[in-house]
Amino acid sequence: MKVYLEGHRYEYEIENMIHLFFTNKKIEFIYDKYQLNETDIFISSILKNTGGQISVSTRIVLNGDVKENNIIQKYDSSMSPDEYSKLCKSAVKLSFYRAAKQVSPVNVPWGTLTGIRPTKIVHSLIQEGRSDKEIEKILLEQYEVSTEKAKLALDVAYNELKILKQSQPNSIGLYIGIPFCPTRCLYCSFVSNSVQRAQKFIEPYMEALIREIQHTGTIINNMGWQVESIYIGGGTPTVLTPVFLEKLLSAVCAHINLQSVKEFTVEAGRPDTIDQEKLRIIKKYGASRLSINPQTMNLSTLQTIGRCHMPEDIVKSFGMARSLGFGNINMDVIAGLPDETVDMYKNTLIQVQELDPESVTVHTMSIKRASRLNEKIDEYTITQANAVQDMLLFTQQFMREHNKYPYYMYRQKNILGNLENVGYCKPNFECIYNVQIMEEKQSIIAVGCGAVTKMVNLENNRIERIFNVKDVEEYIKRIDEMLIRKNKIYEYFS
Ligand code: SF4
Repeated sequence: MKVYLEGHRYEYEIENMIHLFFTNKKIEFIYDKYQLNETDIFISSILKNTGGQISVSTRIVLNGDVKENNIIQKYDSSMSPDEYSKLCKSAVKLSFYRAAKQVSPVNVPWGTLTGIRPTKIVHSLIQEGRSDKEIEKILLEQYEVSTEKAKLALDVAYNELKILKQSQPNSIGLYIGIPFCPTRCLYCSFVSNSVQRAQKFIEPYMEALIREIQHTGTIINNMGWQVESIYIGGGTPTVLTPVFLEKLLSAVCAHINLQSVKEFTVEAGRPDTIDQEKLRIIKKYGASRLSINPQTMNLSTLQTIGRCHMPEDIVKSFGMARSLGFGNINMDVIAGLPDETVDMYKNTLIQVQELDPESVTVHTMSIKRASRLNEKIDEYTITQANAVQDMLLFTQQFMREHNKYPYYMYRQKNILGNLENVGYCKPNFECIYNVQIMEEKQSIIAVGCGAVTKMVNLENNRIERIFNVKDVEEYIKRIDEMLIRKNKIYEYFS
């Protein structure tokens, strides 16, 4: 597909929009109109500034059919270059969307909202003092969001606000990454190494990690920060042996001041990595929240995605955690897993609800570039966008009926149907860490390989990141360098 651009270079935005409506089309951008051949399948997007207003024209030619859209938007000459650029981008996307809607039957419930979190827009409109009705109107008319998604964005934003308001200005979150898993899931693109293949790295990794935890504890104290939440994720932290798990948790308790911690989560993602001994250790060191993640309760899908456990193992691990006194358990599920139907997904949700976890996080399948699934995509049946939409509609209603409400939301690249991931919870069981990482109102200090520290400066509204290396072996070798990188925290806040 040829795409002619004039008056702007928003290739990224146009490409995202094209993928929403005409998936898999190869795109070639051209900037010289004489290269256009009217018999081609092509799109043109032309932006003009006519003084005080911009006009955008989109023309889509598809198999002899021609559809057009023109929009004009006024702008204020006192706008900053950044604001002007945002206005232009959103006009280019809107005009494209309206032209594409005329030729494509694809349902796009988030409208032109690609590459931006819907709740960010809602939060800034709430801050401007807009009413719910006005916000909904803006989402519907300026971004072509569906009524149901606009309501979801508003619900989530208000629930997030409740959590954000309770945080102290000097509070931070702490993330600790364990990059090992029993096996690698079909769709995974995280820093995760099969524990069997990476066995020889576990001990040196834990030593390096504990040095980084100690160094980070010193920085946190020197900065006068209070740790509000701790999240040990990965990978699958519970893949560690009880000895290493105890070493890790005792290091956290020794080097991090836990007095202000309101929430301490350990991901126990795979049920086949959990036993009584490990759960007792987790409890002993004060972790109060667990995440046991079935992803699906269908045996055939568990096998397809490369998880070596049965649905019954999930039920057993959950019961074990409950009997040891864990009163805050999250479960992750995925809508749109390969080869799954809407009924299979509903079955997962119903079985998960029977266990009555405090929260359920519903991810929509996303086909990550670095995943095995992407490499072998032709071997699987990928769920159609309409079926995934049905799964999510069912989820919203089902969660409401079971007294769980949406409290955080995010979207990813290549997510099926351009849909969303939503965390649902019972009242007062929101995960603080999840809300803070999404809304970027608090610094999150992250340790371990592949960890990304996010430094949020609310005074100047700027965010900077410190990246650790992704490879386990490199992380171990270059741990001194990782510690030095962490010292940037001092510079950034000085
Ligand atoms: S459990 Fe999570 S981190 Fe581990 S392989 Fe599966 S998706 Fe990746």
